[in-house]
Amino acid sequence: MAAAAAGQQNCKNGCKNGISDCDDHVPGAFKASDITIELTDSPKEKPDPNKLVFGTVFTDHMLTVEWSMEKGWQKPAIKPLQNLSLHPACSVFHYAIELFEGLKAYRGADGKIRLFRPQLNMERMLRSAKRLTLPVFDRKELLECIRKLIDVDRDWVPKSSEASLYVRPVFMGTEPSLGVKRSSKALLYVILSPVGPYFSSGAFSPISLWADPKYIRAWKGGTGDSKIGGNYGNALFAQYEAQDYGCQQVLWLYGADEQITEVGTMNLFLFWTNENGELELATPPLDGIILPGVTRRSILDLALQWGEFKVSERYITMADLVQALKDDRVKEMFGAGTACVVCPVGRILYKNEDLAIPTNGNKLAARFLKELTDIQYGRTASDWSVLVGDS
Ligand SMILES: *Cc1c(COP(=O)(O)O)cnc(C)c1O
Repeated sequence: MAAAAAGQQNCKNGCKNGISDCDDHVPGAFKASDITIELTDSPKEKPDPNKLVFGTVFTDHMLTVEWSMEKGWQKPAIKPLQNLSLHPACSVFHYAIELFEGLKAYRGADGKIRLFRPQLNMERMLRSAKRLTLPVFDRKELLECIRKLIDVDRDWVPKSSEASLYVRPVFMGTEPSLGVKRSSKALLYVILSPVGPYFSSGAFSPISLWADPKYIRAWKGGTGDSKIGGNYGNALFAQYEAQDYGCQQVLWLYGADEQITEVGTMNLFLFWTNENGELELATPPLDGIILPGVTRRSILDLALQWGEFKVSERYITMADLVQALKDDRVKEMFGAGTACVVCPVGRILYKNEDLAIPTNGNKLAARFLKELTDIQYGRTASDWSVLVGDS
């Protein structure tokens, strides 16, 4: 075995070379208490939150942490947002050794800034890092660094009960070498972007989906359950074909039985009377081809708490859906993700046929939206909320 470097040592729990299931003991991981802060001397104008185009405006500062096999993790740094300077041979550019996360900071009516279950994003990011053979880090320390970054740019968190500050952590291999191997250098950074309301009218507008098994988003043994850049660029071709067919997003199918897996970049829920006559909220199980969404988990957790209907992680095929539509058993179908929270589905184009999906007044989707945004904006107290700064 190669000599272990800082951040990639064997630990008491048996970590080997930093790729292991030990998440609690990360030797040489960077620490939030070591953070250095350099403030900008030219702060930018804050935008009108109602006029924002997603992901186009960035705050004044960023967080960066560098790692090398030789020196381990360096001190985390908050500094003015700036371009990166990277060697053109860096592995990220050639072999897509890149992963990311997406979460939001919300300003409540009480002025406090909250994150929503960010620990789940940190866990997912660590899993993605392991999948790409990038070095491990301490999830708590990274979350602490992110809280500090948001605190530095706290005036950028929109004062609005619909807008928020999108947080985008990125982690990539930066070794300047064309060798197809684990990167001996890495860069982790976090940027922040104020974003407006997802549904600009304030009301749901159900989306249309194109369902065709010719493109596959994720497959068993692949990387569909990790939030890595390579999963998304390659999905664009299908996305534009969906648009050619007059649909807004792709309904991703899988396997000979055409399992329904995800919608665009959202998890999928079906609220229906199932084949056994039970009222059920169903979403596909985390079997390796589903991205484990924080919103997905939260919808399942809420529905289980309510205890009003069956809640299942189960397979749903196109045949199941078509039969249920025929029998008038479908109540609602919606996507779920951080961007929109929930996004109702109104129509599916499948085998040249338009399937009209009942929306039932979007009653369940609206209830999840309210319960989740009440927590996110601090209107409901919850241990899912994590405060930023003293707030
Ligand atoms: C990010 C993502 C989701 C939603 O995850 P959240 O944590 O709820 O935002 C769902 N599916 C895919 C493919 C994703 O990339």
